[in-house]
Amino acid sequence: MLDEAPAINPAGTRDRLGRALRDLRVSVTDRCNFRCPYCMPSEVFGRDYAFLPRDEILSYEEIRRLASVFVGLGVHKLRITGGEPTVRRGLPDLIAQLAALRTPDGEPLDLALTTNGSALRQLAQPLADAGLRRVTVSLDSLDDETFRRMNGVDFPVARILDGIDAARQAGLGPVKINVVLKRGENDGGILDLAGWARDEGHILRFIEYMDVGTTNGWRLDEVVPAMEVIESIGRDWPLEAEPPSYPGEVAERWRYADGKGEIGVIASVTRPFCGDCTRARLSAEGKLYTCLFSAVGHDLRDPLRAGLSDEDLAALVTGVWAGRDDRYSERRAAATNHLPKIEMFALGG
Ligand code: SAM
Ligand code: SF4
Ligand code: SF4
Repeated sequence: MLDEAPAINPAGTRDRLGRALRDLRVSVTDRCNFRCPYCMPSEVFGRDYAFLPRDEILSYEEIRRLASVFVGLGVHKLRITGGEPTVRRGLPDLIAQLAALRTPDGEPLDLALTTNGSALRQLAQPLADAGLRRVTVSLDSLDDETFRRMNGVDFPVARILDGIDAARQAGLGPVKINVVLKRGENDGGILDLAGWARDEGHILRFIEYMDVGTTNGWRLDEVVPAMEVIESIGRDWPLEAEPPSYPGEVAERWRYADGKGEIGVIASVTRPFCGDCTRARLSAEGKLYTCLFSAVGHDLRDPLRAGLSDEDLAALVTGVWAGRDDRYSERRAAATNHLPKIEMFALGG
């Protein structure tokens, strides 16, 4: 059954800097089977770490209800993330509910999933059958030793590559591959990744290592600037700049001059893009964050559980968005590290 969201605010919701609300990232869990040191270092997220109890996490029906409110306010891109979304049981059920949502114009949503890829061999087909169309897999290195170190749990790279194949076989391609680069860790593997993605037809995105959260011990000298990546790949395979495919696209895209696909860079540290940021984030416990670097979220779960109508929930979200003036990355140079921040695994990137 299709579920058309009523146009609660057809004029569009704008923040204090004139930015519309277009994308929503939904974290379905704060848990993960990996311990990537730049996200959930194992020294901090050990056996005793207190993850959210089940009743504090939004149910799939609650996520669908809130997503429908956001869609009524102009959101047309929805990305499911975590933590690791595939560790939550029954994920295809949620995808089926979200795939049935329609924008006020009757269009399906651009529905995607970001995953570490460890469960795709089992889940790619059920997710595709449920209506998922696109998947992004985070893969920081093709070198097994480097990959095992960077996921923090000694997980072999071959199983991720197999998961990526499963995604392609299930029709979820072309698969997008996210690579976070950390100086001295995996920057020696840039060309290997580029050559592999060219041959396999995957879309590669290099992400600058960010100072999210408070636990990863971020240092500016560990960031590999995006332009360095472009120059390095361009020496082997000449590249041409591509115009953005839609307003607010965070990746700067480059096409291979020989026609064999494209790569992108997400230069959140060296070339911030806050002016175009149309993205809201919903955490697993139902808090709305208007910036990846926000210290505080706005609770939507308790109002939802208290029985607020869709219209009242929409008014709540509109009020939060209207008050938004976030531009953390643009201010980073002056303010880095002195502000309290939420962790990346809680918001899903
Ligand atoms: N577990 C899933 C995964 O790894 O794809 C989804 C959640 S993860 C938090 C989302 C994305 O954030 C991943 O691509 C990950 O590499 C990226 N990420 C995590 N910590 C980061 C950091 N400090 N800087 C840049 N990207 C980061
Ligand atoms: Fe888990 Fe993804 Fe964070 Fe790695 S980046 S620890 S896979 S949530
Ligand atoms: Fe958007 Fe905040 Fe990132 Fe700027 S720092 S692009 S406002 S999420």
